Amino acid sequence: MKRMLALAAVLALLLTACGVEITSVGLPAQLRLEKGQTGPLTVEYGAGEDATEEEIAKAAAKLTLVWSSSDETVATVDQTGLVTAVGGGEAEITAAVEDGELSAVCAVRVAVPAEGVTVPKTLDLVVNGEASGALKAAPAPQDATEVAFTYESADPAIATVDEKGTVTAVANGETEITTTLTQTGAEGEPDTVRTGTTRVVVTTKVESLAFDKGEGTLTTGNSTTMKVTVLPESAGDQTITWKSSDESVATVDADGKVKAVKAGTATITASIGDVSAEYALTVRDVTCSYCGKTGHTSSSCPTKAADEKAAAQAAQAAQNTGGGTAAPGAPSNPDPAPNPQPGGGGSSGGNFGEQIPGLGDNQVVTGGGNGDGSGEVPDL
Ligand SMILES: [Zn+2]
Repeated sequence: MKRMLALAAVLALLLTACGVEITSVGLPAQLRLEKGQTGPLTVEYGAGEDATEEEIAKAAAKLTLVWSSSDETVATVDQTGLVTAVGGGEAEITAAVEDGELSAVCAVRVAVPAEGVTVPKTLDLVVNGEASGALKAAPAPQDATEVAFTYESADPAIATVDEKGTVTAVANGETEITTTLTQTGAEGEPDTVRTGTTRVVVTTKVESLAFDKGEGTLTTGNSTTMKVTVLPESAGDQTITWKSSDESVATVDADGKVKAVKAGTATITASIGDVSAEYALTVRDVTCSYCGKTGHTSSSCPTKAADEKAAAQAAQAAQNTGGGTAAPGAPSNPDPAPNPQPGGGGSSGGNFGEQIPGLGDNQVVTGGGNGDGSGEVPDL
């Protein structure tokens, strides 16, 4: 301490030795630099009113200044007063007279220019799902200083955006959000404006699928197109994927057309994404209404064809012998009962045997004349 005081005394002597004493040091109050730039700071010295510039300069030359920065991540300063802008922000640069009490401070502001704005290229929103999303707009480079953002939706009926850049879905469709970055310019300089756009796609997801009925029966060889209701109606992609649990029983195509292949059961599944509905299908073999056997219909019944041929031959024979009634002469008709119904000759019993196929022995219908193939088991 004693030594410090001694030095100060010597300094005072030196300062006064030339007749002029430096009474103040000054720096510009503010300095604005862009990151990477350098700028010199010049100290202004003050002395008594009578001192000439020359005398002041002479006195100042004898002083040693010590330069320092309050934040070297923002700006550094060398011992000639040259400031280097390192990063965005503010720092105080101090010039102090060594071993003296005089000092001055300059507020240095380092700006990082914004070259652009970073926003997502697209944003997908779902009205009945993830209905809102943040744009998270950022300047480029990321350390750009003094930036502010504003947002605008080209079509608020599709999606809106708030002042924080949160986009909210309104209805199915596409629109664009424009993000505007404004960087405050240096004094006297215009602001810097950069924009970025984000395409917003709004959809509605499928919530449920439903068949009109959950089950049904189909006869071998027949087909039907399934009807499915998709909810909500506004759901975007309503493309249904179809699947049969057993394609040997029933197949289903891309349009939901189911074809019964053979007797059995199969589950028909309709799905959209992870939403699906199931239909329990039973396939039964076709039953012949004429002979009661499965695998063919009466129109392709071999028994019936044979019977009809025989009946025709019998009718022909009866006509040839001049007889008006056919029954007695028909070789394949063992039924001698009188025909209770009107109609063509030899049609006895045929109409009865047609009704309950496979349930009795009356499928042996011979000499029948009705070939219209009626009485099939109706399909779905
Ligand atoms: Zn048959």
